[in-house]
Amino acid sequence: MTGNVKRFGALNKDSRAWLDFSMNKLPKCPHCGTDYDIDEHGAWELYDENFNDDLTCDECNMTFSVSVQAIYRFSTDCQEADIEFEDPTE
Ligand SMILES: [Zn+2]
Repeated sequence: MTGNVKRFGALNKDSRAWLDFSMNKLPKCPHCGTDYDIDEHGAWELYDENFNDDLTCDECNMTFSVSVQAIYRFSTDCQEADIEFEDPTE
């Protein structure tokens, strides 16, 4: 897909195309629409909301900027069985 990709072509494909480029698990190249593989690049710095750099797409070789939105979720459903249970009513 190299050579023939229009700058921001995927992002501006139609009036609703931008929806596919917002709040994704992986940064999606706005030029060709390919996902940027964070694992493959070892680009752990992307998991920082202060990330401020351009990425280069493997597929079309063009650069693009990315903003990071972190969503924090906390779970307490898995507890260690050997924690002593203290009943406050006793
Ligand atoms: Zn691309």
